[in-house]
Amino acid sequence: MEKEIKKEKKPGFFAKLKQGLEKTRGGLLGLIFGNGDERINDEFYEELEDGMIMADMGFDTTEEILDRLRAVIKEQKLSDRTSAKAALVEILSDYMTTDERFLNEEGDNVILIVGVNGVGKTTSIGKLASMYKAEGKKPMLAAADTFRAAAAEQLTIWAERADVPIIKHGEGADPAAVVYDAIVSYKAKKNDLLICDTAGRLHNKKNLMNELAKMRRVIDRELPDAHVEVLLVLDATTGQNAIAQAKAFGESCGLTGIILTKLDGTAKGGVCVAVKKELGLPIRFVGVGEGIDDLQPFDAKAFAEALL
Ligand code: GDP
Repeated sequence: MEKEIKKEKKPGFFAKLKQGLEKTRGGLLGLIFGNGDERINDEFYEELEDGMIMADMGFDTTEEILDRLRAVIKEQKLSDRTSAKAALVEILSDYMTTDERFLNEEGDNVILIVGVNGVGKTTSIGKLASMYKAEGKKPMLAAADTFRAAAAEQLTIWAERADVPIIKHGEGADPAAVVYDAIVSYKAKKNDLLICDTAGRLHNKKNLMNELAKMRRVIDRELPDAHVEVLLVLDATTGQNAIAQAKAFGESCGLTGIILTKLDGTAKGGVCVAVKKELGLPIRFVGVGEGIDDLQPFDAKAFAEALL
C-alpha cells in the first residue's frame, strides 16, 4: 500500500529530468535572463557563452552552437531573448540527436558496461535490467568484474531488486569465462538481453583492454547474430573531466555509446551537449538519482527543454 502511494507521488519522466537539471538550468538562465533584459545584443551572447561554458558544454561546442544560434536569429529576424531561447532548444536538441539503432526488438542483445569505479556502473546495470524487464524483455546479468569480490555482491543485490537472473564466479576468475557461462544460461533460459559488468581498472589499461577483447570474442563466437553495445558510464558531476576520461578509455574498446550518471545535483549538465561532438558517441541513458527508476533513455528534445 505504502509502495503504491509512493509510486503515485513519483514525478513523471520529464519532471524528474527537469528537477535533475535544476542547478545547471539555474546557472544558465540566471545569466541570460537574470537582469530582465529581453534585448538580443552583444551582452546577451557574452552571457550565454559564459553560461554554456560554466555548464561544462566545452569551448568548441559552445562556439559552434552560438554560431548556429546567431544564424537562426538573423534568418528568422528574432528580436527577443525568449524566442532566442526557443531557437536554442531546437539547436541543442538537433545537436544531440542520433538516429543510430539501439538494441534489436527481436533476437539477441548484449550490453557491455565499462567505466572506472565509482561512476555508477553497478547502479546503472540494475536500473537497466529493471527498465527492460518492465518493458517485457528478458534481461540477464553477467558479473564479469571479477577483480573485486564486492562488485559481484553489489550486482547480485541489484539483480534481486530487478528480479533478473545473474551469473557470477569467484574473485579473480576469468571475466570471459563468466561471460561464456552467462551465455550458456542465457540461451538455455531463452533470454534476450545480456548485460555484462566489467572491471574499472583504468590504471591497468592494457589488461583491461585485453579482458574486454576476450569477452568480445566469446560474445561474437557464441552469439554471432546479437546486437552488441559497449556503453561507457561517465559521472556527470565531473563535467569536462568525464570527457577526458572517455578519451583515455579510447576507441580501442569499441565504445558505441554513453550512460551519463548523477545528472541530479550537478550544475555541469551541459556536458551532455559536448559528449557527441567531443567523443562522437551518442548518449543512450542518463541517471537522475539513486533509485531503481532513476535511469532514463536519453531524449535529446526533452533534455534540451529541461536544460533551458
Ligand atoms: P560503480 O563503482 O561504477 O559500480 O558505481 P556504483 O554503481 O556503485 O555507484 C557509485 C555511487 O554513485 C553510489 O552511491 C550510487 O548510488 C551513486 N549513483 C549512481 N548513479 C547515480 C545517479 O544517477 N544519481 C545519483 N545521485 N547517484 C548515483
